[in-house]
Amino acid sequence: VHEHLEQADQLREAVRALASDVVAPHVVEAERRGELPDAVRAGMSAVGCFGRVLPREHGGAGAGLALFCVQQEELARAWPTAAVAATWTNLSGRLISRFGSVAQQGELLPGLAQGTASGAVAWTEPHGGSDAAGLRTSAVRVDGGWLLTGEKRLIDNTGRADFFIVGARTNTQVAPRRGITMFLVRRDDPGFVPGGLYETLGLRAAGVGWFSLDECFVADDQVLGEVGNGFYQMMDMVEFGRTGVAAICVGIAEAALGLMTGFLSQRTSFGRPLADSDVVLSTVADLRIGVDAARLLMGRAAELADAGVRCDREAAMAKVWSSEVANNATAAALQFHGGIGYTTAVDIERLFRDSRAFTIGEGTSEVLRLVIGRSEFERRNGLGKTT
Ligand SMILES: Cc1cc2nc3c(=O)[nH]c(=O)nc-3n(C[C@H](O)[C@H](O)[C@H](O)COP(=O)(O)OP(=O)(O)OC[C@H]3O[C@@H](n4cnc5c(N)ncnc54)[C@H](O)[C@@H]3O)c2cc1C
Repeated sequence: VHEHLEQADQLREAVRALASDVVAPHVVEAERRGELPDAVRAGMSAVGCFGRVLPREHGGAGAGLALFCVQQEELARAWPTAAVAATWTNLSGRLISRFGSVAQQGELLPGLAQGTASGAVAWTEPHGGSDAAGLRTSAVRVDGGWLLTGEKRLIDNTGRADFFIVGARTNTQVAPRRGITMFLVRRDDPGFVPGGLYETLGLRAAGVGWFSLDECFVADDQVLGEVGNGFYQMMDMVEFGRTGVAAICVGIAEAALGLMTGFLSQRTSFGRPLADSDVVLSTVADLRIGVDAARLLMGRAAELADAGVRCDREAAMAKVWSSEVANNATAAALQFHGGIGYTTAVDIERLFRDSRAFTIGEGTSEVLRLVIGRSEFERRNGLGKTT
């Protein structure tokens, strides 16, 4: 335990230094250009951010989810998009290291771990993303591979990804969950039709975009994992995905609270320090309680996952709570900045916009509440686990 805490402290210190010295100075310009600057990429690579949870033998740091959360929180405090960029490599790399062939791992993991390559996970489609088993992109068997046809949208890192982990339906004769397969699709595969990038409210350098597949040929060695197992492979990632988002949201909420107390401790109104106002104190107290509860929920999910205990429910709880705390904290911090909070002269405006992504992506609050609520009944009726 002691060793683990020491590791976490060292990592926090290293990423915090990276965030303040290397990341923060580039944020305004990077948001304007809509790109992750090379200097930020190089700095993140040097500290091991892109391969935090990837295997050591492929150049990763071999860490667990708890340490990944430390990294993501600290990056998000400075710039949530930097944390999102580390998600692209760690999440797609984790899928490949868990389900990929030896050849796929050897080819893709070293670049992901270094941040010289990046991937995207393309599940969501125009007709709806919440029903992950309902995707319509089809994959038809042909000699030597598959022909993929369909549309994907709202995909992070569309602008830059070297490959896309695409979910497609390979069998329509079985239950929806059992007929989906993952494919590694590259931009130069014949039939990959580039789309474009959305103008987003926040996360403006995250490259959220769309593309389509028009009888796109992918060879058999581009199947990721088992044919028909794609939905379950994706579900295997939800603990990592949701807890990782919780960490980003803890970072955003901490940053918002810091900006708010920093601003108010300098400011007076009607001849009195605003930091003495009952309304301010009560708001700050509620936010602090919310952020600490978020941190505890996130820590519980990460610990369970690192101990190999299935914890999709705990990860969903952490994600719902943390993302809503981040929304509330940024809204309150903006409000208590007064009019200047509504301008780009202060950082809270950007954090407010960025935070809105996280009650939607990686499972919406509404849908995750269904998951949590159902699990409560399953536990009561003895169908679920009891931890
Ligand atoms: C910034 C950002 C980045 C993203 N990155 C990716 C990515 O990299 N890869 C990827 O595959 N996807 C990505 N997404 C897509 C995201 O996963 C989906 O937007 C999300 O799953 C919701 O799907 P949808 O937008 O189609 O909404 P829908 O599923 O159509 O839902 C619409 C609304 O109805 C609610 N709803 C749905 N079902 C129910 C129900 N049963 N009961 C009550 N309410 C319900 C939802 O909560 C939502 O508010 C990203 C989204 C954003 C905003």
